[in-house]
Amino acid sequence: MASALTDKLSRLVKTLSGQARITESNVADMLREVRMALLEADVALPVVRDFIARVKEKALGQEVMGSLKPGQALVGVVNRELAATMGEGVSDINLAAQPPAVILMAGLQGAGKTTTTAKLAKHLIEKRKKKVLTVSGDVYRPAAIEQLKTVTAQAGAEWFPSTPDQKPIDIARAAIDYARKHFFDVLLVDTAGRLAIDEALMTEIKALHAELKPVETLFVVDAMQGQDAANTAKAFSDALPLTGIVLTKLDGDSRGGAALSVRQITGVPIKFAGTSEKIDGLEVFDAERHAGRVLG
Ligand code: GDP
Repeated sequence: MASALTDKLSRLVKTLSGQARITESNVADMLREVRMALLEADVALPVVRDFIARVKEKALGQEVMGSLKPGQALVGVVNRELAATMGEGVSDINLAAQPPAVILMAGLQGAGKTTTTAKLAKHLIEKRKKKVLTVSGDVYRPAAIEQLKTVTAQAGAEWFPSTPDQKPIDIARAAIDYARKHFFDVLLVDTAGRLAIDEALMTEIKALHAELKPVETLFVVDAMQGQDAANTAKAFSDALPLTGIVLTKLDGDSRGGAALSVRQITGVPIKFAGTSEKIDGLEVFDAERHAGRVLG
C-alpha cells in the first residue's frame, strides 16, 4: 500500500515537473493522493481536512504556481506542512522547576505509561545527569506497581513504594516529600489508566495534577491506536494542561498518522517516540523523519 502510494506520488511529481505550467486540476490530483495517504496512515478525518485546506492554499500560491519546477515545489509544500504540523525542532523535557521537578504521566491502560516512565528515568539519568525517583499511583492494579518497581531498577533510578490500599493523592504527597528530603532532581509519577476514557479516571488525574503541580504533563499514546488516538487525545487534553506527548510503539507497522492527529488536537509537541519494549527504546521525536513515514 505504502509503496504503491509513493509510486503514484512520484509519477505525479514527474508529470507535473515536466510541465511548464501547473493547473488547479494538477494540484487537485496531487492533493487527492496526499489525502488518501493520510487516511491510509490513520490520521483522523477532521485533521486531514484541515491539513489539505492549508496545503491547497499554499499550493495555489505564487511559490508553487510561479516555480520552474511546480511538481517538486508542491511536494516541498506538503512535506514542510507535514513537519510543521507535527512540530518543528526538538523539544526535550522541561526541568525548569524548583527540584524536584515533577513529571506526570497520563494515558490509557496499555499505552505504555509504565514502560515510558522507566525509559524517561534512564534518559534523564544518562543524558541530563539527574537523580530520579519514580512512583506509581495505580492503586487498582498491584501488578502495575510491581512492574514500575522492576523497570525502575533496570533504569538505575529509585522507586518509591506505594500500595493498593493508599489513595493516589496521599501517595503523591508522600513521594514528593521524600523526593524533597532526599534531594531528587526529578519525580516521575506513573498513573492509573483505563481501557477507555471514564469520568473517575479524569477526576482522579486532575486532582493529582492540582496536588503535584507538575512541570511536565505528558500524554502517552500508542501509535497503533490510529483513529482512536484522536479521541483519547481530545479527552486528556480537555482535562489536563498537557505539555508534551510520547508516541509509543513506533516500531510497530503503523504509518504513525496518530502523530499528526494528536499533535494537532492537543497543540503540544511530541517530545519522544517509543521504539521498542526495551528500556533504551526511547528516542527524541524527529518530526521531519516521521513526516516521510506518514506519507508512505
Ligand atoms: P501502561 O498500561 O500504559 O503502563 O502500559 P505498559 O507500560 O505496561 O505497556 C503496555 C505494553 O506495551 C507492554 O507490553 C510494553 O512492553 C509495551 N510497550 C510500551 N512501549 C512500547 C514501545 O515503544 N514499543 C513496543 N514494541 N512495545 C511497547
